[in-house]
This record gives sequence, structure tokens and C-alpha cells, in this order.
Amino acid sequence: MTIPAFRDQRELPDDDRYFSGLRDDDASRQGWDGPSLPPWPDQQQPQPQYDQARYDQQQYAQPQYGQPYAAPDSHRRGDIVVSSETDPTGWKAGSGVPIRDERPPGESTSGNRLFTVLLFFSGLATSVALWLFNTQAGAISDTATMMIAAGRVTGLIGGYLLFIQLLMMSRVSWLEEWVGSRDLLRWHRWLGTSLLTFVVAHIVFIVYGYALTAGTGVVEQGWTVITTFPEMISATIATGLLVFIALISIRFIRNILNYELWHLIHLSSYAVLLLGYGHQIAAGADMSGRFASVFWPALGCITIAALFWGRIVEPLWLNARHRFSVAEVVGEGANTFSIYIEGKRLDKLPVQAGQFMRWRFLTANGWWQSHPFSLSAAPNPQWLRLTVTIAGGHTRKLATMRPGTPIWAEGPFGTFTAERRTRRRALLIAGGSGIAPIRALLEDMPPDTIVIYRASRPDELVFRTELEDLAEQRDAWVRYIVGGRNDPGPRRLFTPDGLRGLVPDVNRRDVYLCGPPGLVDAAVDTLKQLDVPDSQLHLDPFEF
Ligand SMILES: Cc1cc2nc3c(=O)[nH]c(=O)nc-3n(C[C@H](O)[C@H](O)[C@H](O)COP(=O)(O)OP(=O)(O)OC[C@H]3O[C@@H](n4cnc5c(N)ncnc54)[C@H](O)[C@@H]3O)c2cc1C
Repeated sequence: MTIPAFRDQRELPDDDRYFSGLRDDDASRQGWDGPSLPPWPDQQQPQPQYDQARYDQQQYAQPQYGQPYAAPDSHRRGDIVVSSETDPTGWKAGSGVPIRDERPPGESTSGNRLFTVLLFFSGLATSVALWLFNTQAGAISDTATMMIAAGRVTGLIGGYLLFIQLLMMSRVSWLEEWVGSRDLLRWHRWLGTSLLTFVVAHIVFIVYGYALTAGTGVVEQGWTVITTFPEMISATIATGLLVFIALISIRFIRNILNYELWHLIHLSSYAVLLLGYGHQIAAGADMSGRFASVFWPALGCITIAALFWGRIVEPLWLNARHRFSVAEVVGEGANTFSIYIEGKRLDKLPVQAGQFMRWRFLTANGWWQSHPFSLSAAPNPQWLRLTVTIAGGHTRKLATMRPGTPIWAEGPFGTFTAERRTRRRALLIAGGSGIAPIRALLEDMPPDTIVIYRASRPDELVFRTELEDLAEQRDAWVRYIVGGRNDPGPRRLFTPDGLRGLVPDVNRRDVYLCGPPGLVDAAVDTLKQLDVPDSQLHLDPFEF
């Protein structure tokens, strides 16, 4: 199948005629198998030299830093900006022009989040209440009984947090939709640290409490607990695994570990549940009451059902229904390419512009890896498109995939979508490969949207024609900010003054931000200084 040059496919009827037009008009996007990509460093080949002077002189005559920027053509939809006092929307702060602020019925997740938080704390309170109802008045009379009580409470909280952690890893779509994948990730990290803290506290309190009661040393008592209490060997292994998972999740260690290895070790948290649950049931004095004997198994069943549903049933259904495969791989820029994907019943695929899916390309040398990539064009009944920037070994291999390669996908995930908009206008900020979901989102955005696209070098900019065509159709504006991380011009544009110069009404817009975590964090700092409320910030940092 050959993919036609970009047109808004959603406006086209659902038949095959639209694949008949070859991309004759755009030779660089013909069927492409990757030979023009720069050689990978490990191949010991000379790297192509980037000629900054040539770009500056020929193609992108840029204004000098500090000089007011004058667009060569005031009607152009996209300009490379280094330093700007332009007014892309035709509205200036303080000009007195009233701005209508009709809010779209934004689908906010804050209500869902509040409900989820309440549910979480009710469950937590119930777990602790089990100890409270099981403890007679006056039972805590000295340090030893106080330590043992603290050990029981922290053990109950640890057990509860373990279930919740696994529930959040289940990838069930309703949880993602309700909370948003970014908040889920944040909660997962926060709960991971809390879980470890409570488990360690549980061990310390219990061993110390029993040592005080028995009048023995802590080490001796610890050994007695491990060797004589029921299910203690498995609980010790579970604790060891938990500590190991926590260690490899520290950002510094995680960054130096290969992702697949890290992920494999991380998955051993299922074993923590199995090993730890036996100990909870066998040794937990607060697990056997009438209510407790319903509460804990119910929590276990919900968690296992969610894991089974999210990890097995939903992906099986998705792939059986849509049968995705690679239609074509097309070069987009220096180290960026697009993968067009075909499949059955794509009109029924519940994915939106801005969302991502996890893609497992079933090639001989990469089928075991599943990587997240966002759609780079709004979905349509004919094809899906991903746009990938080469980051490492796997993405490099994807560039040489053949049409017809079968794909196993999971998702869609994420709440980085137009339906979460709360204001009438939007600002989209993309950095590097973050342009993929931003490019797709632009198709769903209202008039007057401004796109700021940050890249280190002009040859890293992709989709210029598409972005500017879309901007023309949708009455939007594209501003490219090009330059290295330390160049003063681009740096200045990400200060409050610089950003206000580019987008005077920034705090009245929804801001969608996607790119490397560093860029997203820096931009969020600036936006906060410009009084953009949290409810208007939609973030999609490419992090796991
Ligand atoms: C939600 C999300 C959406 C993304 N969308 C896009 C996109 O549209 N276009 C694009 O070019 N890139 C996207 N990325 C980044 C992309 O997934 C990584 O660049 C890619 O997985 C790198 O794989 P690699 O083996 O080539 O590189 P490596 O050198 O192995 O990894 C580079 C970095 O990518 C991350 N990474 C590696 N493997 C995985 C994995 N299986 N799952 C999650 N992260 C991983 C790690 O942080 C790693 O440090 C997205 C990432 C996330 C989290």
C-alpha cells in the first residue's frame, strides 16, 4: 500500500481510492528504508557535519539576538524565531481589545482524581481500622506493645499499598482515562517510595517490639522471626525484591540501566505480591476477623481482575480486532522517520490525537521490545502514523522495517487530548520528537492556536509543510525556535518576558507541552511565573 501525501484524511470517505496517489510531489518521502540516516556512533563511521553557517546564510536568515524580529511576510504562518517581539495573534497585552473567553466544555479529570483519592484513603482507613477494632482498650501499655502495634499498623498499610501499586500497573483503560497517565505515573512513584518505607518500618517495629518483650537482642530476635514465624522466608525474599526494585528505580541508576532489563526486574513486583500475601494471611493477626476475611481477598480479586483485564484481555481484543501492520516507513528528516500503520476497522479504534500506544513490532530482531510512541497525525479510517526520532538501538532498527511487518499494540493511553481543553484558545509547545503528538493535536485545536516548536538545529525541524498547511487551514500560527540549549536567543524566549512576547495572552490559553522532561520542566516553571493555572497545563513528557 502506498500512502498519499498528507491530507486531512478524516474529511475523506472511507475507501481505497485515497491510496492511489503516490507521493510524486515529494521525493524525500518516497518508500524509505533508512539509508539516508546518519551512521550510528557504534559503527565507527564519520558523522555528517552540520553546517550552521550555510543554514544561517541561505535558508534561514535569522534576526540578531536583541534586535526586534520582523517577519519577511506578515501573512506567513510559520517563522523561525530566535528572539521575538512579534504579536502572532494580532492582540497585544494592554491594547484594551476585549477577548471573548468562551470556555469549551472541557472534560476535566480533577473530579475523577478527587474521587480516586477519596477511594484510596477510604481503603487505607479501612485497613488501619481493622487493627483498631482488633485491639482491646489498654492493650498498649509499654514500649514493647507500642512497637508491636506500630509494626501491625505499618504492615497493614504496606499490604494495602502493594495492592494499589499493582492495580495502578494494570493499564486498565478506565483508570488511565480517569486519572491520566502522567498522574498515574507520579502516584506510582510516590506510592513505591511509601510502600518501601512502610515495609521497612513494619520490620523494624515488629522485631524491636518482640526483642523488648523477649528480652533478647535485635539481631537474635530478627533471626528467630525469620526462621520460626510462618511464611517468613517468602516474606524476606519479597522484602529483598522490593528493596532491589526501589534501588533500580532511583533516577540515576535507572538511567544507566538498559530499559528492557529495568522493566524485567520491575515486573518482579508481581512476585512480591504473591510472596508477601502468604505472609500477610499466615502471620497477620488483623487479617482473620470477619470483615478482614472479606476485605483483603476482595482487594486481591479486584487487583488480579484488573491486571488480567488490562494486561491480557484488552490487548488481545485490540489486536484481534485491528490486526495492525506496517504500511510504509518514510524518512522525515535527519534522524526522524514516520511509520504508517494499516489495520482493520481503524474507524472503530478509540484513539485520539495526542494519545500514545505501546508498539511491539514483530521483527526478528526486536519483537521482544514494546515501546511507547504517540500518533503524529489524527487517526483516520485509512492509516495511523507514528513519527520516531532515533534515540538508541531499537528506534534505529525500526527505520529499516519492511511493509507488512505485523504489530502487537497496547493502548491507547494518555489524556493529552483536545477534549481536556478548558479555554477557548490553545498554545502547543513541542521540543524535538515531542512534535509528533503536537502535530496530531493541531488537527483538533480551535482557531488562533499558536504552536511553538523548539529544535536545536534547523535540519531537526520536521513537518514544516504540514504544520504550515494545517495552520493555514485552521487559522493557527507556528513559531519555530531554533538554537542550542545555551544559545541566548532561544533561552530568552523561554523566560517569562520572552514567552509573553510571543504569546501575550498565554495565561488565558490551555498549554499543551510535549518533549524531553528537561524542556517540559523548564517551560512549566516559566508558565507558572506567567500565572498559567495548573488546570490549563497539559503535559506529556517522554518519560517512563
Ligand atoms: C509516553 C511516551 C510517548 C513517546 N512518544 C514518542 C514519539 O511519538 N516519537 C518518538 O520519537 N519518541 C517517543 N517517545 C520516546 C521513545 O519511546 C523512546 O525514545 C524510545 O523508546 C527509545 O528506544 P531506543 O531503544 O531506541 O533507545 P534507548 O537508547 O534504549 O533509550 C532511550 C531512552 O528512551 C526510553 N526508553 C527506552 N525504551 C523504552 C521503552 N520500551 N518504554 C519507555 N521508554 C523507553 C528510556 O528513557 C531511555 O533512556 C515516547 C516516550 C513516551 C514515554
